[in-house]
Amino acid sequence: MKLPVKKCKQCDSILYTSKYHCTNCYSDELELTEIDGKGKIYSYTKIHAAPKQFADQAPYYVILVHLDQGLKVTGRLNGNDVQIDTPVELDEIKERAYFFKAR
Ligand SMILES: [Zn+2]
Repeated sequence: MKLPVKKCKQCDSILYTSKYHCTNCYSDELELTEIDGKGKIYSYTKIHAAPKQFADQAPYYVILVHLDQGLKVTGRLNGNDVQIDTPVELDEIKERAYFFKAR
């Protein structure tokens, strides 16, 4: 599944969709695009005491994924087999949260 991002028209940097200026060249000429949602688990943490709306899902993992195209995003893992460097891909986007699965 593809992941929505912004791309700088000046220097081709890939940026989070929340950005309004390029973090590399400060240009504000950004366009919405998508990148491949594939990457590797860079870091993770297990959540035991979850916020109210996720309490029924605890314990669960929050993972930091280093995408192949360079960006790091936080998300959740569908599954319980969590290890650093596990190849993952974007599985779904629910309530603006990224859910990854092993690939
Ligand atoms: Zn730029």
